[in-house]
Amino acid sequence: MDLDAFRGELDSWLDDHDAELRPPDSHRFDDHMAHLSTVKRLTYDASFMRWGWPESVGGLGGSTLLRGYLGGGLTARGLVEPGIYSMTEVLVPTMIDYAPPGLAAEMVPRQLRGDETWCQGFSEPSTGSNLGALACRATRSSGGEWRVTGQKVWTSLAQFAQRCVLLTRTGSPEDAHRGITAFFVDMDSPGITVRPIRTMHGVDEFCEVFFDDVAVPHDRMLGAEGQGWAVAMDLLPFERSTALWHRGAYLHRKLSDLLAAAPEGSLSAADVGAVIEQLYAFRARSRATQYRMAAGEKLGAETSIDKLMLGMAEQALYDVAAAALAPALLAGDDPESEGWRSEYLYSRAATIYGGSSEIQRNIVARRLLDLGPEV
Ligand SMILES: Cc1cc2nc3c(=O)[nH]c(=O)nc-3n(C[C@H](O)[C@H](O)[C@H](O)COP(=O)(O)OP(=O)(O)OC[C@H]3O[C@@H](n4cnc5c(N)ncnc54)[C@H](O)[C@@H]3O)c2cc1C
Repeated sequence: MDLDAFRGELDSWLDDHDAELRPPDSHRFDDHMAHLSTVKRLTYDASFMRWGWPESVGGLGGSTLLRGYLGGGLTARGLVEPGIYSMTEVLVPTMIDYAPPGLAAEMVPRQLRGDETWCQGFSEPSTGSNLGALACRATRSSGGEWRVTGQKVWTSLAQFAQRCVLLTRTGSPEDAHRGITAFFVDMDSPGITVRPIRTMHGVDEFCEVFFDDVAVPHDRMLGAEGQGWAVAMDLLPFERSTALWHRGAYLHRKLSDLLAAAPEGSLSAADVGAVIEQLYAFRARSRATQYRMAAGEKLGAETSIDKLMLGMAEQALYDVAAAALAPALLAGDDPESEGWRSEYLYSRAATIYGGSSEIQRNIVARRLLDLGPEV
């Protein structure tokens, strides 16, 4: 299916099914997770969710642009929150590229249809940016399976997840990034403990996850032993491409909402103009990334520019919103201002998750501009 035909069909389907797809009038995170499953199932059953994914994993083929348009449509209409929706875009491409084909064929449809939630177990206490130093250890037992012991932190949605894409150390610490191996782990395995962490915007979005001698079958390895760094480096550009395109669509909607909600005289044309400039600059950049991906180009370090621009645009938007809506945000006693306050606080994380802005600038300096090693 080409993009124009997809757009036409999707837009009229979304118009017709708006009532079923609308999120609950609730601030509870688990209500929104349940709603996300419903939206994924409905869009999967109507085939839209399957376009842009290979037939080998239950998709219908076609350009990856179709996935971008679907997520952009759902987020721009306020039907799903982009952070939780886009986890599919972060983790599924990695499964397709690195999981044994039978495992990907079995698991990916469950993720696309909303039957399962997956999480990304990369960050650890003291090794968020310095991922190559991670310590969660996997050792091979005499029976051939792997035993995992260690801790992850900031693992989004782990309390809802059935599976985890997990980075472990299988070599010695001196091997740094060469001694890392990735696994696809069942979250109900004995020995896993999940403890939610409350964010400053009042949501249990991420967790600490403890692994105590957890058995993982050998056929759950993603890629080869010692190839975990390549898995991570291939995954992160996906986190910084289609997922960000969806977020950009959502931010355009929030800008419109702000223009409607701001009291008369509370917005300056210059401030709004600066936000529009940043949002459109990001969208133009992200659109080009979508087209490069659709043309089969391998994404890499240049997606750090997309991530930097998104973080700046998002925070600029919510800074202007916070100034314009300050009395309501500070009072925080009506559901509408509660929404803006919570989103303002969450926007502070935009320069942290998916790799902090300082780290993105290091990547741009070292890998794109060749400005020499870090001192
Ligand atoms: C909302 C949210 C969701 C997240 N979800 C997940 C998830 O699902 N899975 C997961 O694995 N992780 C997740 N993370 C973790 C995220 O990837 C890390 O927070 C991020 O990579 C930064 O690592 P850190 O928190 O350990 O900070 P640190 O690495 O300790 O960094 C602290 C500060 O030092 C700066 N810094 C560090 N090293 C350098 C350097 N070399 N040069 C310049 N500055 C430097 C950083 O930019 C930062 O400002 C999430 C984070 C957030 C906020």
